[in-house]
Amino acid sequence: MPVPRLFVATPLAPAAEIELGDAQARYLTSVLRLGPGARVLLFNGADGEWSAEVGSVGKRGATLVCREATRPQILSPDLLLLFAPVKRAGTDLIVEKATELGVRTLQPVLTRRTQSESVRTDRLRAIAIEAAEQTERLDVPEIFEATPLGKVLGRWDATRRLLFADEAGDARSVPPALAGNGGPAEAGGTNMALLIGPEGGFEPDERRMLRALAFVTPVSLGPRILRAETAVIAALALIQAHWGDWQG
Ligand code: SAH
Repeated sequence: MPVPRLFVATPLAPAAEIELGDAQARYLTSVLRLGPGARVLLFNGADGEWSAEVGSVGKRGATLVCREATRPQILSPDLLLLFAPVKRAGTDLIVEKATELGVRTLQPVLTRRTQSESVRTDRLRAIAIEAAEQTERLDVPEIFEATPLGKVLGRWDATRRLLFADEAGDARSVPPALAGNGGPAEAGGTNMALLIGPEGGFEPDERRMLRALAFVTPVSLGPRILRAETAVIAALALIQAHWGDWQG
């Protein structure tokens, strides 16, 4: 059984004592049935990964004691995913898969044909933390509150290229669209973004508006219409393989 990894929101340093909240304490003591002295791995998104051991366990909670650093801190490539929320299970899947695929920031965007207006951001953040623990990331993606697409584009950092997955076709595939955009962030590369639409796709005037923006590059994900969740996974795999941190 792999050593459990936990995201904690506290500084990590030698001999630091970490007070676990109820949920994490219960997970360690009841689900994993760990007791004092058991080893866990901790990360907080800033101090790298640390080996720690279970200190005291009690009804109210548990404490962990940091021992030594096991991995230096690295951030996932500066890759931003804009996605229109879809039905709940689909949105949950998008958040989990984007986390495994190394996205740094997720921005749910409300487009004309977006059906599910209400996005439970706190719920999505919990999914992202769990996925980050499982996928052995050293950071947890930041998830912003759902925002109208126009507003997100209105405040866009024009140095960030936005790949617009346009199901209407007549666009290049992802790898040639990435050419000339440098390598992953840690290699001093630039930053990158991807936009995936809702079940109903984009309105013609949304497509026109997007294609008129200098920082937007339309991309095709092939001749078949993919579900939004599939489009996210396929596009992120191509981006990470040809631009991000999958490059050998
Ligand atoms: N209902 C729409 C499809 C929407 S699919 C229609 O029938 O045309 C949901 C989103 O996934 C799309 O908005 C787009 O961002 C992405 N997507 C799906 N298939 C794609 C493809 N072949 N090429 C590019 N993007 C695609």
